[in-house]
Amino acid sequence: MVEYLRRYGYDPDWTRVETASEFEAALTAEPWDAVLSDYNMSGFTGLDALEIYQRTGLDIPFILVSGSIGEERAVDAMRRGAHDYIIKDRVQRLAPAVERELRECVTRRERREANLELRRLNRELQESMMLLTRSTADLKQFTFAASHDLQEPLRTVSNYAQLLVRRHAGSAVTEEAEFAGFITDAVERMRDLIQGIIAYSDAGRNPQRQGVADAQDVAEDARMMLADRIEACGATVEIGPLPRVRMERKPLLQVFRSLLGNALKYRRADVPPQIAISAEQENGLACFAVADNGIGIEEAYRERIFELFRRLHGTDYPGIGLGLALAKRLVETHQGRIWVESTPGEGSTFYFILPMAGDRMAVKKEYASRAASVVTE
Ligand code: ADP
Repeated sequence: MVEYLRRYGYDPDWTRVETASEFEAALTAEPWDAVLSDYNMSGFTGLDALEIYQRTGLDIPFILVSGSIGEERAVDAMRRGAHDYIIKDRVQRLAPAVERELRECVTRRERREANLELRRLNRELQESMMLLTRSTADLKQFTFAASHDLQEPLRTVSNYAQLLVRRHAGSAVTEEAEFAGFITDAVERMRDLIQGIIAYSDAGRNPQRQGVADAQDVAEDARMMLADRIEACGATVEIGPLPRVRMERKPLLQVFRSLLGNALKYRRADVPPQIAISAEQENGLACFAVADNGIGIEEAYRERIFELFRRLHGTDYPGIGLGLALAKRLVETHQGRIWVESTPGEGSTFYFILPMAGDRMAVKKEYASRAASVVTE
């Protein structure tokens, strides 16, 4: 056998054993690449060897080499875990068989390792999921605390401050009234911030997969809600045509209100706002654009303005820095994306992409007509 392997180009280190105990000792003594075993030996058989080999848990080719033993026994040996069976008259098959089995052995090892890696990754994923579930639960608890525990003392401060304002109204001690007024304002702002946090953490929780809204209607509703402000600054707001999208009405209204509200708020002092809300459609997606001719945004801030409570203009303009963060969260939880392009001093355009609502009836009609044409063809 060694001679045949040499002819084929192998130069094996080998050892020959003839008893079960010798075999067992040899198997563990060195890291062998393969076992070649006779089927019948005196006092020890190939099947005994196979059993010992399997007890060691090794995975190297085990090939039986013997005179003809009949198909049934050969099949039996393979079933018990032998990798191949070579009849001595065809011993030229030996080297190719060893080569193939060595290759398969490597494949098996790689597969085992890949499986282990997969299991490790799965475990990691499960751990991350657990952490995520826990931090979501923490966030829920935080929101609950924010909406109840934080607002309660705030109400008390507000009530007493208002009491002070009332007591001092019309009296000569105007400074106290003024201070109490500052407190009331600060409390108002704090309440807005807390409610902002609640709105933000509520946004995107359980978005309804089936929700659909007509963006044209929703944008027009947003314009109506801001009608007073539009009129006050002499703005023009053009809308549409806009398609139907996969988002519920309420969050979409929130997005349009934030963007339209900002377009009105961040206007240039001497230029009446001109605002256009439009949309382009491609591959089942609608890309909306809310364009204004306002003060614009410096490049360095175009991403940061979408962060929670991030504001660029301090106290020059009212607001708490929530609108864009909320819009981003709402759009993203509906498989969308939002960004801004702008020229400082000339204006900004906020874009957001949402999946379009397929017109189910149209799709059905399309299928029906195709089916009909197939039948007639
Ligand atoms: P808020 O308006 O309450 O400050 P937002 O989250 O809506 O909060 O906006 C964040 C910041 O982005 C604003 O403070 C403003 O500086 C900037 N911004 C938003 N919209 C516009 C716009 N249309 N033009 C110029 N700046 C804008």
